[in-house]
Amino acid sequence: MTRIIWKLVKDILLNPYVDLKTEYYDLGLAHRDATADKVTEQSAYAIKKYGVGVKCATITANADRVKEYELKEVWKSPNATIRSILDGTVFRTPIIVNGISPFVKTWRRPITIARHAYGDIYKSLEYRVPGKGRAELVFTAESGEVSRQTIHDFSGPGVIMGMHNLDQSIEAFARACFRFALEAKQDLWFSTKDTISKTYDHTFKEIFQRIYEDEYRQAFEAAQITYFYTLIDDVVARIIRSEGGVVWACKNYDGDVMSDMVATAFGSLAMMTSVLMSPDGHYEFEAAHGTVQRHYYQHLRGEETSTNPVATIFAWTGALKKRGELDGLAELVDFATRLEQASVQTIEEGILTKDLGELSTAPQKRIVNTETFIREIDRRLASLL
Ligand code: NAP
Ligand code: MG
Repeated sequence: MTRIIWKLVKDILLNPYVDLKTEYYDLGLAHRDATADKVTEQSAYAIKKYGVGVKCATITANADRVKEYELKEVWKSPNATIRSILDGTVFRTPIIVNGISPFVKTWRRPITIARHAYGDIYKSLEYRVPGKGRAELVFTAESGEVSRQTIHDFSGPGVIMGMHNLDQSIEAFARACFRFALEAKQDLWFSTKDTISKTYDHTFKEIFQRIYEDEYRQAFEAAQITYFYTLIDDVVARIIRSEGGVVWACKNYDGDVMSDMVATAFGSLAMMTSVLMSPDGHYEFEAAHGTVQRHYYQHLRGEETSTNPVATIFAWTGALKKRGELDGLAELVDFATRLEQASVQTIEEGILTKDLGELSTAPQKRIVNTETFIREIDRRLASLL
């Protein structure tokens, strides 16, 4: 469905206004299959070359899709491929609109979750302990020296997990967070559970603190923003009491869980921006949601759909603004800003896609289909320009 939205957005909101000098990589499943997924890698290298990319939601193949698209292989998730080439941190921020209130009454400004996208339980090894025995943690150094510690002497069955992270990846995560907070001019909060995890989580805390002192303290003070480390339990409580307007950096698992909570508490997954920032300062903008498969099958059956294009539009405006900043094109930044304003204004005036229908408290609501919604944005954009 997002492929159809993508085309509508380009045809109606972008091409009539902007001479897009883009390079295009078709990440549709058919083309990924035809190129043995080389196109996904090429698209990531293009982002490295140009510094800015915008990505449509993509299908992550599974057994059903292999049959449906007659695929040669169960291709890897394009997001995983692109992230591993760019090595980044994912930042997700809700789009705040009058008439759609967060479930938490005090939240007035967006909360951004910065999620480390490497390691921990996502790259772990697990073992089902069958019965009595000793579990050990063994590290063999390149020199041959062995460190050996007992994890537990099992008297019966249980479970073990081994996981890891890398200083280099944590450093890149820290720098991406500091840079993002500076650009957003918002405080950065970072949380782990270092009181319990005295080596693993403590390493994250130490690396953040060292990089902050060495590289970012001055810039933070000049921008009058703060860096603040505390326990994750403490941040959870503070976030709920806060008025928002902070960047919350999370380890991989914490970020996975907390971004769903924050997104839902703000209203809708279709009202989130998502950007991957690499340590080299490359940017990949995308929608946080998937391809909205259920709506696509309705569309194929000839039924009208009312899918929310806002996250896709904001992926484009994010990319255009960044391109404009990098190239000193004030007009492009201005255009992107107005397109965002026009989108917000449309929703605030009660013209809504179905997902926002129940959430909105606009006095006069009209639920429209996707194309009408985009045309309503265009009417407002034209007058703003
Ligand atoms: P999804 O596309 O995010 O959609 C899940 C449900 O959320 C939809 O059925 C719809 O609910 C609602 N929704 C999401 N975006 C919406 C929008 N823009 N407007 C209105 N409603 C919206 O997740 P999925 O259906 O589980 O996954 C579909 C495909 O997307 C899969 O192949 C998956 O691999 C892929 N995916 C890609 C990405 C990515 O590229 N970044 C991320 C996640 C998933 P209702 O049906 O109740 O209306
Ligand atoms: Mg999740």
